[in-house]
Amino acid sequence: MDDHELFDNGYTQLVLGDITRQRVDAIVNAANTSLLGGGGVDGAIHRAAGHRLMETCRRIGGCPTGEARITPGFNLPAHYVIHTVGPIWRGGDHDEDRLLASCYRNSMRIAHENGVRSIAFPSISTGIYQFPLERAARIAVEELQEAAERYPEIKVIRVVAFSRETWDAYEHAMEESID
Ligand code: ADP
Repeated sequence: MDDHELFDNGYTQLVLGDITRQRVDAIVNAANTSLLGGGGVDGAIHRAAGHRLMETCRRIGGCPTGEARITPGFNLPAHYVIHTVGPIWRGGDHDEDRLLASCYRNSMRIAHENGVRSIAFPSISTGIYQFPLERAARIAVEELQEAAERYPEIKVIRVVAFSRETWDAYEHAMEESID
């Protein structure tokens, strides 16, 4: 999968590809509360970054759901990894929407505090954590649009979809946000 497809609504870019290959200042990891690695995008990021990432995460000692922590990117092309913990979907009345929005907001705040000018996000919570895709995409696009206005120095805000299904959901949410 290459980043050959690109959609841009003026605030956010959408690409189909692998987040570990993104040449941006920071990539965001959909981590778990232990920060000790897992499957999905988390596993891919740890494999690509090398063992020093795990050692650094171990020293941080975990991260609550909805919050974010920053580390170096080590062997990744990205200078930083911002680890955020999305909510596990439990039917929708356990604060999932607010916690997912917090992931995007806190990640963008940490990016801003660290001088990041370009950032790439995966589709947080929509894999193993089973957050409904269309709903997650709407929340992501809304939060990233707000953050783009709040932090104008962050020139590139990119969502990296790893599947066609994810790409379609984010494209739809981005198109709706233009109207
Ligand atoms: P969560 O536990 O937050 O649901 P997952 O890693 O299971 O996290 O899934 C989040 C999203 O990341 C899913 O859409 C999954 O397909 C995607 N993903 C997995 N590997 C990669 C990768 N290398 N680059 C970008 N996205 C990825």
